[in-house]
Amino acid sequence: MSRFLNPRYAKLEAYVPGEQPTECHYIKLNTNESPFPPSPEVLALANADQAALLRLYPDPDCGTLRKKLAAYYQVSEQNVIVANGSDDILNLAFMAFGSTEYPVCFPDITYGFYSVFSDLHGISSRKIPLETDFSINPDQYRDGFIVLANPNAPTGLSLSVAQIESIVKANPNHVVLIDEAYVDFGGQSCVELTRQYDNLLVVMTFSKSRNLAGARIGFAVGTIALIDDLNRIKNSINPYSVNRFSLAIGTAAIDSQTYYDTCCQEIIRIRETTAAKLKALGFTVIPSHGNFLFIKKETLAGDKFYHALRAHGILARHWDHKRICDYIRVSIGTEAEMETFVETTQAITKEFL
Ligand SMILES: *Cc1c(COP(=O)(O)O)cnc(C)c1O
Repeated sequence: MSRFLNPRYAKLEAYVPGEQPTECHYIKLNTNESPFPPSPEVLALANADQAALLRLYPDPDCGTLRKKLAAYYQVSEQNVIVANGSDDILNLAFMAFGSTEYPVCFPDITYGFYSVFSDLHGISSRKIPLETDFSINPDQYRDGFIVLANPNAPTGLSLSVAQIESIVKANPNHVVLIDEAYVDFGGQSCVELTRQYDNLLVVMTFSKSRNLAGARIGFAVGTIALIDDLNRIKNSINPYSVNRFSLAIGTAAIDSQTYYDTCCQEIIRIRETTAAKLKALGFTVIPSHGNFLFIKKETLAGDKFYHALRAHGILARHWDHKRICDYIRVSIGTEAEMETFVETTQAITKEFL
């Protein structure tokens, strides 16, 4: 730390992303990327003509992409904002809707960025413990800016639209932000409710179910007023936050929805066969609506398992938090990758018997 840093950031603990190794000899199951390539239509845009256009600034309103998204989600384009990944959207939302007058409420076990953004913006947080089975009790989310990942990460458990609606209804004076990063892997989207409730903001991303983590495209759907609030902040930081190339490929991705639906179906299928094999090996497997599994085995400490996998060339994710330190989270890769993962896991469980 230099002596020039604003003291308000002195204690800030930054988000720790999953490892992104520069050598690619690992089977990478640690950051919930898709194992499948972007659609052929998206890949076709990676050409010299697109690159030549990079001399120009991108459209700050992301108009073409917003129109596509609005048509796909059956809202108007003024109900949509696009930004540089959903992390960027989340940051804008914490700035816009967080306050020192009331807390931001989120589960004790959830996406790590929520507590980082509350600390960054000096908002007090109320971390609400998940139930012992890791489910979220909707009745506990009251009287604050409410932020929920649905499906939740890293558990993979999800709430129904009716449960989300009960939270939205019970908090008419605060924004309820639903982060649907994983919704396309078996959850229920509550995007339709944004037409009915002025306090609901739904955040989504192209990173997981549209195979574009590297393109950094996220978006949110809400009332025109909520989206205006987010634009006010976006345009006070970086109106050009989504680059020209990502706007083009994001637009093409919406036209390739059938391809992405097929990819998601395949991920779900591989997730379920992998879960069955792990259960047969004696693992506890939390039922997942994400592109990942959250698993543990009594005889195998989470950190030991994580390190053993790594030594065998497989990257997974492990957290030290005491409620979940027995678990690891493993992203769903290709069928072949998951077969290797299960075989390696079987070998590791024998080593640690
Ligand atoms: C991956 C993830 C994000 C971040 O998505 P980006 O669009 O890549 O920034 C947001 N929320 C949750 C719960 C995630 O798992």
